[in-house]
Amino acid sequence: MSQPRWRFVVNLGDAHPLEYGGYFVYRDMTGVYGYEAELVELLNENDERSKLRVIRVCLDRLKEVRDGDAVHLVPFTYEATWPHPVHRYEEWFTDKLASIASYVGRTVEDLRASLCSEDGVQRAEAYRNVYDHEGWANGNEYPMTLTMAEAKRRYRSALQRPRTVNDRKLDKLKKEARSAAGYRGHTLKRFVTHYSKTRAITECRECACYVQVNAAPLPNETAIGGDAVAIGCIGSKKKEEVANGKM
Ligand SMILES: [Zn+2]
Repeated sequence: MSQPRWRFVVNLGDAHPLEYGGYFVYRDMTGVYGYEAELVELLNENDERSKLRVIRVCLDRLKEVRDGDAVHLVPFTYEATWPHPVHRYEEWFTDKLASIASYVGRTVEDLRASLCSEDGVQRAEAYRNVYDHEGWANGNEYPMTLTMAEAKRRYRSALQRPRTVNDRKLDKLKKEARSAAGYRGHTLKRFVTHYSKTRAITECRECACYVQVNAAPLPNETAIGGDAVAIGCIGSKKKEEVANGKM
């Protein structure tokens, strides 16, 4: 077989994938190997110099085979002429599809259709649902570990994608929030981006104060809000009291 030539298709993870988690989809341009994806996350999200864990998974296309009331999910290449009964070729997560689907707020039919889709990006979303629920070790037991410099080289083409207006607004707001909270004595952790991609939230390392930034605030919302920009830091004492239920 020829060697695959992987081309980056899309990042389905965060807009800042090396800081907040990326999910990069690749397609083999020779057409032999289909699609694969890499989940990338910091080993320790509280450490800016942390290494990254990379889990590469196959995004094999599946096929639905109906047998009376039962629906079997089998490899796309399956044929009725294969020697064993169809259920012997079933994917390992088939009986867990209902709990996976409800976990991510989809219907089983929709999830199944995505796993059988010709579109590798749809399959990437569906496999992410499966592994988020069942554990990524099911996709690949041998994660890679990269330094930040290695990751920047590996994902160079993916990181060159143009930044949206929202990305730039959020960057600016995060910087302002960090400085306003710092003025009040807080040390903020990394921001976590909401799935809407217009909001991000974080909290102080020392106390329980939080701050949220919003690149597209409604008329009754603020661009930067939270107690970390309103009140001073009282250190770890507050965190302990919250943990003990005294506040
Ligand atoms: Zn604080």
